[in-house]
Amino acid sequence: MLSTITNRSILFAAGLALASVGAIAADHPTVGYTDTPFIPGQKWRVHDGTRPQRRVVTPGKTFSHLAPPPSDATVLFDGHDLSKWKGTKGEAGWKVEKGYMEVADGAGSIRTKEEFGDFQLHLEFATPSVVKGDSQGRGNSGVIIYGIYEVQVLDSYNNPTYPDGQVGAMYGQFPPLVNAAKAPGEWQSYDIIFESAQWDKEGKLTKKANVTVILNGVLLHNRKEFTGPVKHRDVAPYVQHAPKGPIELQDHHNPTRFRNIWIRSVGEYD
Ligand code: MG
Repeated sequence: MLSTITNRSILFAAGLALASVGAIAADHPTVGYTDTPFIPGQKWRVHDGTRPQRRVVTPGKTFSHLAPPPSDATVLFDGHDLSKWKGTKGEAGWKVEKGYMEVADGAGSIRTKEEFGDFQLHLEFATPSVVKGDSQGRGNSGVIIYGIYEVQVLDSYNNPTYPDGQVGAMYGQFPPLVNAAKAPGEWQSYDIIFESAQWDKEGKLTKKANVTVILNGVLLHNRKEFTGPVKHRDVAPYVQHAPKGPIELQDHHNPTRFRNIWIRSVGEYD
């Protein structure tokens, strides 16, 4: 949720600030922000560049890649068209070819026409094989649940950034447990389980939204609760929303690709 221009300015400023503290700069070559609020319940600021970079885990060659949808899944994208999607600026204007969709810079983010409650989502993405930019400007997109809760998509292969903004981060709130990114251009699988926030009849929050995220077969979050809506450089309290919402894919000006997207509603135990 950060523009490239803004990010470059910050990195430039951060680079100047770190020039006098080389040892720290070596440990933390990319610094985020020092003027942001602390994340509720944590000792770290939002987009804290001094937060440790995640341990790298090399994923297996495939996990759920090209996984066919189960019988009760809703197929959101089978490689042919964007009929299940609309644009946040009107039509879903992303490119579709060769079985994938690709972010069209300036077309805006896209979101599903249908809304979902608690769900299990499968999708695959590939960040650009031709590497351009760095930090938040490299392969940035995102799975923004209900347009509120972002699970970050980024090229995090040898691309340090503030940890709560790397691939798999609950953006601005929790970095992933580890860095399981594949190389630029390689297809990566996301399996995401989401439980929506709940409120009682008086409008009191009774359950925070939580997410379980598996990237390329590696667990990044296990029912981790969002602290509230995702913000760039800020924190925000929960605001009551409907129990269902769309799945949004972010246009962050980088031609990131998606394929094989399906979703299942999660039922209740008896
Ligand atoms: Mg993003």
